[in-house]
Amino acid sequence: MDVYFTVDTEFWPRDCARPDFAEAEEDYRRDVFGLTRSGEYGIGYQMDALESEGLKGVFFIESLHALKLGTSYVRTIVELVQRRGHEAALHLHPEWVGWLEDSPLGGRNSPFLHAFPAADQRWIVGQGARVLRECGVRRIASFRAGNYGADQHTLRALADEGVPFDSSYNVAFTGGGCGLDAGTALTMPRRMEGVIEVPIAFVRDGLGRFRPMQIVAASFGEMRAALDQAERRGFPAFVFVSHGFELIRRRAEARGGAQEDGIVRRRFDQLIGYLGRNKERYRVTTFADTVPEGLFRAVANPAPVTGSAWQTSGRLFEQAWRRVGGASLT
Ligand SMILES: [Zn+2]
Repeated sequence: MDVYFTVDTEFWPRDCARPDFAEAEEDYRRDVFGLTRSGEYGIGYQMDALESEGLKGVFFIESLHALKLGTSYVRTIVELVQRRGHEAALHLHPEWVGWLEDSPLGGRNSPFLHAFPAADQRWIVGQGARVLRECGVRRIASFRAGNYGADQHTLRALADEGVPFDSSYNVAFTGGGCGLDAGTALTMPRRMEGVIEVPIAFVRDGLGRFRPMQIVAASFGEMRAALDQAERRGFPAFVFVSHGFELIRRRAEARGGAQEDGIVRRRFDQLIGYLGRNKERYRVTTFADTVPEGLFRAVANPAPVTGSAWQTSGRLFEQAWRRVGGASLT
């Protein structure tokens, strides 16, 4: 089974309601490189872990911020990701368009691409792709919308730009944030609007809810059980989500207050170690290295992967432990 370890790589003002762009350098170091008082736990840490097991990741790099702040941050990230052999892919948060002094979109503002008309989306996707190319990405193989907020117009814009793969479909956000309508909970790659949609993996948990396979939202036991079940059932692909800041607590209230999140970091370390030890079952790969035909093999039962009630309660316990500050004790 092809496994994609994807890292949404972006940074944010500490207070998005009153952004202070004079702090952008600190926001970038915190959210992209995971800078804390005890070390760095961002994309560098995640690349180190992947490489120590001989694995490659997909880094979806937010590039619209360059319209506000210039291209230096994107350029640095792209150089690092490509030099280390990972995929530099495209990620867009249209909030940055709303922060432009003179937005060519006339002040329209939303965290979701699908809130913009088709022509505006085409402009946004074109701008983001242009920045990524200017910063050294020769071929943009894949895309993820910020907040999973893509719709069919986004996919058409990607097809126009020559981007073959999208991974914005997140079942937990459909019916609101994610505007992609597959008519069902999408578990398999599917051709949609001229691109190949590779959905974010999820389980239907012991309480009947959908849980995306995001490092911060699922325990290691849940992720391992979901992977193993998907592989046994012949699923062609399995997409994990992380962020540059996934392994830290950002603590928006104060400058320099970010801390390592020990529980999430340990969970990440366990997952990468497991993938590294099981290469004969899991081919951790990139969209740039993916042959589309391999994603469309027939699967007898494409129903969602299920998680047991025990796994759900294990994760709820971990989350409660994190809320009371247990992470600092690990
Ligand atoms: Zn994002």
